[in-house]
Amino acid sequence: MKAAYKPNREKGIKIVDVPIPEIAANEVLVKVKKAAICGTDIHLYDWTNWCENVEAKNPMIIGHEFCGEVVEVGAQVTSVKAGDLIAGETHIPCGKCILCRTGRQHICKDMKILGVHTDGVFAEYAKIPEICAWKLLPGTPPEIGAIYEPFGIAVHGVLRDKVAGLSTVIVGAGPIGLFATNVANISGARQIFVLDVNEYRLKLANKMGDNILTLNSKKDEVAKIISEETEGRGADVVIELSGSVEGTRTAFEVLGKGGRISLIGLHSREVPLDLVNNVIYKEATVYGITGREMFNSWYQTENLVKTGKLNIKEVLTHEFSLEEVEKAILMAKEGNCGKVIIAVE
Ligand SMILES: [Zn+2]
Ligand SMILES: [Zn+2]
Repeated sequence: MKAAYKPNREKGIKIVDVPIPEIAANEVLVKVKKAAICGTDIHLYDWTNWCENVEAKNPMIIGHEFCGEVVEVGAQVTSVKAGDLIAGETHIPCGKCILCRTGRQHICKDMKILGVHTDGVFAEYAKIPEICAWKLLPGTPPEIGAIYEPFGIAVHGVLRDKVAGLSTVIVGAGPIGLFATNVANISGARQIFVLDVNEYRLKLANKMGDNILTLNSKKDEVAKIISEETEGRGADVVIELSGSVEGTRTAFEVLGKGGRISLIGLHSREVPLDLVNNVIYKEATVYGITGREMFNSWYQTENLVKTGKLNIKEVLTHEFSLEEVEKAILMAKEGNCGKVIIAVE
């Protein structure tokens, strides 16, 4: 089969022919239909320090966001069968540690990540453990199935606490920020402010609902505008997705007293922050959000998709073939795009 393969720790990716994976008793073989590019794939492509920090596999097949059809299941697999359309959960939990045994598999002590610690899905076929196969409703468009995983992060961050009737700030309008905007909107956020420096993405953010004010953090006086628009109270809810030091400082600055903030974006360095004024005196609630709750976020995602009210198709701006993975990664890195899809089948 064809696969997007990382042969070494050098920058780049190669399309090579490799054997179709053989599955174990608890695994599922999937024929990949569509996949999507994530920030993680850019790290793997460039082989940044992050890859060494998380001990990413090398050499390996990259990619983790995907949708496909089950073609074969291991002897112990009972929850899916050949012919099922599935999306992939990318947390691979051990199932045995205290976190797994107390409903927090997504932060398993010994967690592996699909396409980071195991061979990934930018390939004609991929194998995943049964627990990572999320059965989609028949007829789900494969490009929508392929973004359940990143969409689920937005769901997790936005719905971690109340949002209905509350003013909400989304910092960072990348694909997950756009999904978060859409989730906040259909979940009843009173007013949504979306912050970014990329005009292309701010324009996309305007398509994510009907009560959205986009602000360019480089040009607009963000804190002043949000304060005015909220009658001096500041935001009730902030979702931080920029992963930048500046963005995160702004996120805490615009957060109102008694507000809550979900931190999702990953920083490449420490963030200097005045905790006294930004957290303690505000009595702010700070949530760290990593990936999706297994499987609360998945059920919520499915329910939201079923409403038919999401605009997430608008976020899927570009599509490339498997042979064009490099082009797709470079496009995602450059940033004038929403979610970049890989059509494998
Ligand atoms: Zn991802
Ligand atoms: Zn575990």
